[in-house]
Amino acid sequence: MDVHVLVPAAGSGSRIGGDIRKQYLELGDQPVLVQTLLRLAEHPQISLIHLIVPTEDVALCRTEFVERYQLEKIGCVIAGGAERQDSVRNGLESCGALDQDVVLVHDGVRPFFPREQIGPLVQLAAVEGAALLAIQAQDTIKEVFDGRVRSTLDRRLLWQVQTPQAFRCERIREAHRRAYAGGYMGTDDASLIEWCGWPVAILPGHPYNFKITTLADLAMARALLAAGEVSLT
Ligand code: C5P
Repeated sequence: MDVHVLVPAAGSGSRIGGDIRKQYLELGDQPVLVQTLLRLAEHPQISLIHLIVPTEDVALCRTEFVERYQLEKIGCVIAGGAERQDSVRNGLESCGALDQDVVLVHDGVRPFFPREQIGPLVQLAAVEGAALLAIQAQDTIKEVFDGRVRSTLDRRLLWQVQTPQAFRCERIREAHRRAYAGGYMGTDDASLIEWCGWPVAILPGHPYNFKITTLADLAMARALLAAGEVSLT
């Protein structure tokens, strides 16, 4: 059984640094995406990493990232789609993973994933079919409609999910195919498994495993690095 990682990094709309896509902004001395890829490649259980980038950036990513930083374990560089779900589906169809392999899906903009959870996550996905990292909600979360609070959700039941999310390959491929055929769009991959009626197991994530989406996130990531709270190596 091989462990493949799909890294969706094909977001195009949200730009936080002027003309530079957020996944290419620098953290430490290297782009956020490169930091994520280096950390994934270091993990002994990971066999191959497939990078999913905007169609127009495929060639640039090969030269500017894969070759320039001598990234290891890179399998395919794949053109993404309009939505994250389209990007991951493209990845699943072209990465060459076998049905019995485990596929991790990990956002290119989450460089601080907890390395020690990769092994347990892979194990759990192999047994259960699907597993993800999550942390319990700390804030009270309200449902708001038309500028007014509609309800207060029960915090004890709410978890914020992160990536990596891990799956038996045949299961996530089939879930993506069914969701595509049925016109279902989710905001993560596990939601497609749920939509199919299949179980998803959870493991504790880490608060530092946040998605670098805004300038505030980037500032926080840089501050954590400067304070020695996280390391990129
Ligand atoms: O848009 P969001 O913040 O959910 O993106 C999470 C990850 O998915 C990012 O790494 C982003 O580049 C990627 N993505 C993608 N294809 C898209 C949209 C987002 O690969 N069409």
